[in-house]
Amino acid sequence: MADHYAGNKMDKTPPGAVFSAKANGCTITAYNSGKVLFQGGNAEAEASKWGAQAQPQTKSSKSPTKKPQTTGYQPPENISSLSIIGSDEVGTGDFFGPITVVAAYVKKEQIPLLQELGVRDSKHLKDPQISAIAKNLIKTIPYSLLVLHNEKYNELQQKGMSQGKMKALLHNQAINHLLRKIAPEKPDGLLIDQFVDPLIYFKHLQGKKVEKENIYFSTKAEGVHLAVAAASIIARHSFVKEFERLSEKAGAVIPKGAGSQVDIAAAKIIQKRGSEFLSTITKKHFANTEKAMKLAKR
Ligand code: MN
Repeated sequence: MADHYAGNKMDKTPPGAVFSAKANGCTITAYNSGKVLFQGGNAEAEASKWGAQAQPQTKSSKSPTKKPQTTGYQPPENISSLSIIGSDEVGTGDFFGPITVVAAYVKKEQIPLLQELGVRDSKHLKDPQISAIAKNLIKTIPYSLLVLHNEKYNELQQKGMSQGKMKALLHNQAINHLLRKIAPEKPDGLLIDQFVDPLIYFKHLQGKKVEKENIYFSTKAEGVHLAVAAASIIARHSFVKEFERLSEKAGAVIPKGAGSQVDIAAAKIIQKRGSEFLSTITKKHFANTEKAMKLAKR
C-alpha cells in the first residue's frame, strides 16, 4: 500500500503510523499495527479497492462543528471516478496580484495520467513543482483561465461589489467558457471549490447564464476530484508568473499574502513610484494600504 500511495504521501505522519497519504478524495493512514484508516468523503470507495479487510471510517468526528449549509449540492460518493469540470481560485487574500480563477476539465479516463503528472492538492506542492506540473497540464486538458487585474478589481470594489460576488462571477464565467470549449461533449458534473454557501453563489449570479445541472460544491475540493486540483495548479502557476511580472514592473520583489512583509514592500514601492502606482497592482481597500502609507512617511 505504501508503494501504491508513494506519490500521494504527506510530509507528516501521526505517531505510530507507517505513512499518511491524500488520494482520490480521502486521507489514508496506515499504522504499525497493520490497521489502515480511510477518512473523508470518498473513504468507502477507496477502502473498497483494498478488499474486505479495509475499515472505512466516516468523518463523523468533524461534522458537529460544521456550519449548517444548504444541502443538495454535495458531490456524489463516486465523484472521483467521474468526468468533471472543477474550478478554483487564488489571490483573494493577497494584497498584490490578481484574483485568478481556473476551470479545468478532467475526463475519467485521464485521471491516472494526471496522477502520473503529479497532480494533487497544491497545498502540498511548492512553486517550482506547481510550475512544472502546470506546464504539462495545460498541454493535456482543456481549461479556462480568468485573471481579474487589480485596477479592475478596485473599480468594482469601489462600486460596492463584494469579493464574494466577483468570485462567483469569475467561476461562472470560467465554467461557461470551458463548457463552450468542450461542446458538444458534456461533463458528468461541475465541482466548485466552495467559497460561499451555494444559495448565495446563485444569488450573486442572478440574471446571468448559469449551468445548474449536476453542479456540486465542496470545501477542500482539491482532494475531492483531480479536476479541482488541476484547476488550482494552473491558477497558482499563472499567479506566480504574474508576481514575477509585477515585481519587474515595480522594481522590487513583492511578497504574497497580506502580512507585515507586504506592508514593507508596499512602502518601498510608494517611495519609489508613488501611491497611485501602488494601487494599480494591489487590492487598495486592504488595510495594507494604510500601513504602507504610514511606513513610507517615516
Ligand atoms: Mn479554493
